[in-house]
Amino acid sequence: MNVFEYQARDLLARYGLPIPAGRVASSPEEARQVAERLTKRPLVVKAQILAGGRGKGHFLSGFAGGVRLCGDPAQVEGVARAMLGGTLVTAQTGPEGRPVHRVLVAEAPQIVGELYLAILIDREHRCPVLVGSSRGGVDIEEVARKDPEEIHRMWIDPQSGLWPYQARGFVARLGLRGALLNRASDVVVRLYRFFYENDASLAEINPLAVVEDEEIAVIDAKVGFDENALFRHPEIAGYREELIEDSREAEAVKARLNYVGLSGEIGCMVNGAGLAMATMDMLQRCGAEPANFLDVGGGADQDQVAKAFGILVTDPKVRSILVHIFGGIMRCDLIARGMVEALSQVKPKVPIVVRLQGTNFGEGKEILERSGLPIRIADDLADAAEQAVAAAREAR
Ligand code: ADP
Ligand code: MG
Repeated sequence: MNVFEYQARDLLARYGLPIPAGRVASSPEEARQVAERLTKRPLVVKAQILAGGRGKGHFLSGFAGGVRLCGDPAQVEGVARAMLGGTLVTAQTGPEGRPVHRVLVAEAPQIVGELYLAILIDREHRCPVLVGSSRGGVDIEEVARKDPEEIHRMWIDPQSGLWPYQARGFVARLGLRGALLNRASDVVVRLYRFFYENDASLAEINPLAVVEDEEIAVIDAKVGFDENALFRHPEIAGYREELIEDSREAEAVKARLNYVGLSGEIGCMVNGAGLAMATMDMLQRCGAEPANFLDVGGGADQDQVAKAFGILVTDPKVRSILVHIFGGIMRCDLIARGMVEALSQVKPKVPIVVRLQGTNFGEGKEILERSGLPIRIADDLADAAEQAVAAAREAR
């Protein structure tokens, strides 16, 4: 899970990283207020999207650049107005771009040189790796392609951690000396502590800038976290709702459902991720595309099932719903009863195909048949997928 730059800055600031003063804003007026409270000039306004390449990007409106320097608060307000509500296209977003709902307004120190610094997990070596270059900035991908020897790496033994002398050795390889070497190695040590203590999967600073007076500044930060460890970091997990651009996914997170929105027209409700994948494969084999991946889990209660149906039926693309449940720990009759209750709340207008299998399957089937709801019951997975696809075609 990657977070926005303004969130990354807040998290990194706690580890004492040198971050220029600034704050996020979601309206032009707020951006101006933030600018008025900052003392140094010039300032920088940065579109907050979950993709890089903003400096070289452009808005669909024609406005150039997702990172703009400004001389005063009035200019900040104007730039924020041009960015907010717009769609920013960069080399990393695809041609459709990403909507900009917030901008970061920060002090912009005079940049003398740009370094690249990152820590990520090297799966092959099974440990974190420190990556750095003296040629950071917006062209780092090109440096990596044309001059790969200018990208330095150092593997970190997670057991012993990163020692200051190792950080100094690494920074010296990037060509820094004297006070800059001390300051940059301190950044490396602090960044590793942040990475380790927060179960990060990526912590990238690009550029890490050399600024006036032999100082170092974090100009741009991108951090991501291991989702399986988010339970240990409730505050970072709390960022999640702000990150989700798809409203269906936001609903699902609230209901503790494992949901991923897709672009097809058959809504799927399945228990178990493996079964969900198999169900999606089968739909594809029948020539249709799923509208989502949804794993309601082994212990879903009636309320969650109702919420799940709610998300599926409010999706205008969904033309039929395929429910595929295996009653293992949970009995099929209970599942069927929960489904009937949920459906009488939600009252879907699209046809529903159900395949139920497992403990008390017979009773479950009977409950669904007697419910009077427009449910078609399928015997096996292939039959279920075919019926759901046929129902979607009829609906179309
Ligand atoms: P992105 O990586 O998404 O393009 P960055 O924040 O790295 O966004 O900004 C891109 C480039 O804009 C930087 O490499 C730097 O050259 C320039 N830039 C960003 N912030 C400042 C600043 N405070 N002062 C001067 N230039 C800046
Ligand atoms: Mg950058």
